[in-house]
Amino acid sequence: MKTYKNFIDGKWTSSCSKKTFCSLNPATERPIGSFQDSSKEDLDLAVTSAEEALSSWTDTPAPKRAEILFKIVELLKKDKERLAKIEVIEMGKVYKEAAGDIQEAIDIFEYMAGEGRRLFGHTTPSELKNKFNATIRIPVGVVGIITPWNFPIAIPSWKLAPALICGNTIIFKPSSYTPLCGIELIKILNEAGLPKGVVNLLTGSGERIGNPIIKHPKIKGISFTGSVETGKFIRKNAELKKVGLELGGKNAIIIMEDANLDLALEGVLWGAFGTTGQRCTAASRVIIHEKVAKTFEKMLVNKTKKLKLGSGIMHNTDIGPLINKSAVEKVDYYVNLGINEGAKLLYGGKPGKIKGFFYCPTIFSNVKPDMRIAQEEIFGPVVSIIKIKDINEAINVCNNIKYGLSSSIYTENMAYAFKAINKIEAGITYVNASTIGAEIHLPFGGVKKTGSSREAGWAGIEEFSEEKTIYIDYSGKLQKAQGIE
Ligand code: NAP
Repeated sequence: MKTYKNFIDGKWTSSCSKKTFCSLNPATERPIGSFQDSSKEDLDLAVTSAEEALSSWTDTPAPKRAEILFKIVELLKKDKERLAKIEVIEMGKVYKEAAGDIQEAIDIFEYMAGEGRRLFGHTTPSELKNKFNATIRIPVGVVGIITPWNFPIAIPSWKLAPALICGNTIIFKPSSYTPLCGIELIKILNEAGLPKGVVNLLTGSGERIGNPIIKHPKIKGISFTGSVETGKFIRKNAELKKVGLELGGKNAIIIMEDANLDLALEGVLWGAFGTTGQRCTAASRVIIHEKVAKTFEKMLVNKTKKLKLGSGIMHNTDIGPLINKSAVEKVDYYVNLGINEGAKLLYGGKPGKIKGFFYCPTIFSNVKPDMRIAQEEIFGPVVSIIKIKDINEAINVCNNIKYGLSSSIYTENMAYAFKAINKIEAGITYVNASTIGAEIHLPFGGVKKTGSSREAGWAGIEEFSEEKTIYIDYSGKLQKAQGIE
């Protein structure tokens, strides 16, 4: 089995800890490689390198930095198929979704490369004569990027690309469940010609290496995607660093009585069972008008029965494995909880019969909005159907939750659609489309316990830069604002 190394100061390096850990293929439970179990000492080396690289990288004109990002785009495009296969093997999602993950990385690097010739500030009139006012963008400094396993190439890219174009240098820690994907991405960034020290990668657990990243006094910003629990910990421990948090979700699809049910069915199948339900934007609640609920339940069960569980590498697989054994146990725990809470198990409700971390797609009906299966993030292929009587009740049920990431409504009625757009407490609302499918040039993020950060599109630039205000007084005399004589 191959041993992979950290990337510090432009070199592939073993950890000072001399310890390693394994990453498993979730479809076979077999190890795919061994990785550095990094220590605080490794982090100090990486931070020193990132600090040394900062001034020269910041001084490189943004359009020149962009040339490297355009090169990254080219390399990602050339390598898309191979990277997607690695992602299937390490993370488990089906091949076409993994290819979509790589495409997202391509898109965000391309978008952010274009930003090299924008990075807009503002100009605005002064209240005084002969004075010029403007804002410019400056980098945050050395930033820490900590990412989850469910989009192991796209999510790091959503952060690396804006961080680079804004002139930051980076310490990147991928999830311990997908370190190989992180390493393959950094190999490409290195090949594209990033100067040494601009990006440093450390593998290892949240506790051993994530925690010291958050607390490191020389790291000025943290961009994190992951669970609410870790997000809270970061908020508490990052002191006065600039922090971006993209956390969990419990997203709902509302289906009104006038909805095109065939269209809604496709949306629910994709939202609930795509990526085996392991998306922060997964649709784990269906809030449906009582007039159409029974018909829709039948349609959903019929289609779900046809979904095939298996390795994501096989072309006929619809649902890949969960990420690990404890994810299977967690899903099974919630399924039993749902049954005990009085929900009706319509379909599924058991682990897959094949080797690997599989769980059957599962549908509950008669779910009450306050049941724990309708409140807590299960992060697996489980969907809860909740009946409602009208649009107001639908929106109340949708909002009766601690999270606020994505949401969707299926209706032909403009008034319903706009009510949903205006009243749903979420960072994202889709009309007649599922809860998943973000495009990289729009801001992405949530409200409430999902965190209130935004990333991607222009929000990515805001996350990884500071706005500096410039006053240029060319009057040749002391002028005081606010009319002070
Ligand atoms: P997680 O357990 O919070 O881990 C996320 C990352 O944080 C991993 O790299 C993890 O390291 C690290 N970490 C854990 N404890 C840490 C600590 N004390 N200090 C610093 N870093 C620490 O989340 P996950 O299980 O990987 O991902 C699933 C969660 O992510 C779900 O809740 C999902 O909704 C959320 N998510 C949100 C979005 C969004 O954009 N809103 C997108 C995708 C996923 P190790 O795992 O290596 O120990």
